[in-house]
Amino acid sequence: MLKVAINVPLSRAFDYLPPADGTVPAPGCRVRVQFGPRQQIGLVLAHASDSTLDPGRIRRCLGVLDDEPLLGTRELQLIRFTADYYHHPIGEVVAAALPAMLRQGKALHPVVEALVATDLADSADVETLSRRAPKQAELLETIRDAGGNGIETDTLTELLPNWRRAAKALLEKGLAERIEISAPQFDESGAPAATPGPKLNDDQQAALRKLREHDDFNACLIEGVTGSGKTEVYLQRMRDIIDAGKQVLVLVPEIGLTPQLLSRLRKRLGIEPALLHSGLNDTERLAAWRAARTGAARLVVGTRSAIFTPLANPGLVIVDEEHDHSFKQQEGLRYSARDLAIVRAKQLDVPVILGTATPTLEMLHHCHNGNYEHIKLPIRAGGATPPGIRLIDTMRLPATDGISEPLAEAIGKHLQAGNQALIFLNRRGFAPTLICSICGHIAGCDRCDSRLTVHASQRQLRCHHCGHARPLDDNCSECGEVVRPLGEGTERLEDTLRQRFPERNIMRIDSDSTQRKGAMADALDQAREGEADILVGTQMLSKGHHFPNLTLVGIVNADQGLFGTDFRSAERMAQSIVQVAGRAGRASRKGEVLIQTAFPENPFWSTLIGGGYPQVAAEALAEREVTRWPPFTRLALIRSAAHQHADALNFLDVARRMLADRCGETLRVLGPVDAPMARRAGRYRTQLLLQSSDRRSLHEALRELRPALEEEPAARKVRWSIDVDPVELF
Ligand code: ADP
Ligand code: ZN
Repeated sequence: MLKVAINVPLSRAFDYLPPADGTVPAPGCRVRVQFGPRQQIGLVLAHASDSTLDPGRIRRCLGVLDDEPLLGTRELQLIRFTADYYHHPIGEVVAAALPAMLRQGKALHPVVEALVATDLADSADVETLSRRAPKQAELLETIRDAGGNGIETDTLTELLPNWRRAAKALLEKGLAERIEISAPQFDESGAPAATPGPKLNDDQQAALRKLREHDDFNACLIEGVTGSGKTEVYLQRMRDIIDAGKQVLVLVPEIGLTPQLLSRLRKRLGIEPALLHSGLNDTERLAAWRAARTGAARLVVGTRSAIFTPLANPGLVIVDEEHDHSFKQQEGLRYSARDLAIVRAKQLDVPVILGTATPTLEMLHHCHNGNYEHIKLPIRAGGATPPGIRLIDTMRLPATDGISEPLAEAIGKHLQAGNQALIFLNRRGFAPTLICSICGHIAGCDRCDSRLTVHASQRQLRCHHCGHARPLDDNCSECGEVVRPLGEGTERLEDTLRQRFPERNIMRIDSDSTQRKGAMADALDQAREGEADILVGTQMLSKGHHFPNLTLVGIVNADQGLFGTDFRSAERMAQSIVQVAGRAGRASRKGEVLIQTAFPENPFWSTLIGGGYPQVAAEALAEREVTRWPPFTRLALIRSAAHQHADALNFLDVARRMLADRCGETLRVLGPVDAPMARRAGRYRTQLLLQSSDRRSLHEALRELRPALEEEPAARKVRWSIDVDPVELF
């Protein structure tokens, strides 16, 4: 009998018999099964001899999709761990681990549809066509350019989003033909020859020696200030592993934000990485996945979900920018790829390196406990000096439309000297609030407990929580008087700076300005080449970029985190400030960081300026120990959302009662309470927090709770989820 994982929101695996034709699929193979009224793709997890079902009622699989397992024992083990640890249905974990095409039941080596130009197309009169039907002409040219192998329909969708109507016409005219081609393969040949890096300094060499002590499992945190040469150390270690014939898996926060890292890996190692991220189309992604699985790719670089990629010959796992929140998935299967990287490295018995300038308190705590090794790179490599940090008191020196006079003067001075400035504000749009100047009415979202953000250039009001948008009107919906935008976002800062520095080139980088594919990379290239004098942006600008001419970082409205309600506020704020400050003065020019705050006396500032991130982290850790927050306790959050507030609460009341027997010394249950933003996208959101002093009692409680909640009638009225080790408490 087969234990099969099916992509449905139920925890258990399902029992099936092998198909009637006698083939017995090995664990790791996909099967087609009848599930309720529908056919589904399932993955065989194991063979078993027992079932809770009556033997007569066990159905046969309808067919086997793979003649060899897609996933090996070790990958299945990781999937099982993930399902157990995050208390999440195993079928959904399998779905998260497989590339979309495999999830949908396509072959491991699929044939894909392509369009190819016919002989008739060679003599076609494209000029006439382009006058009468420009879309068809454009498509025809694209297909003709692709040559005899044709062009994949997936690629066409990227190039010419609405190509299908034009294609129909071309097919009817006999100018194009549909063909099937085998899906493209990963190709390692494109990489340039490897180039040597700089000679490592003493700290780097010491770090590398430590890393070289282990070929087996060992978790190592490299805490190195920005520009300390962490990446150079990884590169050397990667070289060792790859030269030994093994594969390296590198997890990065967002590929779109790290084009520099990718080009550096290629150039230095002389290896084309297999990339796994959401910007690829399905066939590209599958090709990279296959290459990792067969070992054809020696270097595999990906975002979060790449942690599940099978590796034929694993030798090293690297998590770059360990502190980054994008490693934690915030919906569905709420896993932390950073944490799973450590679990996986342990299962594979290979080393894992976690690098950052601003380690999370969780990692630091593990280091203090001796679980992980802690390597520090305290000084900048190549002789760059760290930037000086200064506060600007906006109570005394008001920031008109976002920029105070001292900041404006500093910008002018740095630009005068031929350098660049970066102005950071973690809020996009023009203004976070639209207020009536007479009655004080604030424009809010109808579906969320939130304000609407003013987006001036599109003349829209938008909700950043549910995506709702409406036209911006100049008069108050309540009293008809004139409204005005209050506060500032990056768009307004851009305006302010244009007025102040009309002859300068100003570039805004945030998720609004970089929606087009490749826009981010283009903007970064321009910024690096010095075409922009002033960069204005959100945290997108703070991640790992290297701008050689940047000497001034201005942090506008830094106070958002000072009085945050979340126990992680201080840690986060210090991370984001230190990361963005790290962009200043990376090369030979000394940098300066100016921070606008209305609360310069707040002790957070003296800690940060006096002791840097390590001091903030040390104090925050001491505080967490006293207040019993993670990493000194473990948390899980059960969320419930419904159109009726009572339904959302009721479900969690049921959960609370189910947990009542287990509460005591080691497990506390807090709530249910409304989420900090109680209504979002039309649903009321409530939450129940489980806090435990030891991991075991928390997991035992959840293990019993999950299946009980799945059976619970009150669950039908709500959307609910379990979030183990939540990073957002709302
Ligand atoms: P990090 O990853 O810690 O931010 P990088 O490895 O990116 O640091 O190094 C920052 C800059 O310093 C890069 O331009 C890199 O080429 C340079 N660099 C790194 N190590 C050295 C070294 N030992 N000597 C000279 N330059 C170095
Ligand atoms: Zn909304």
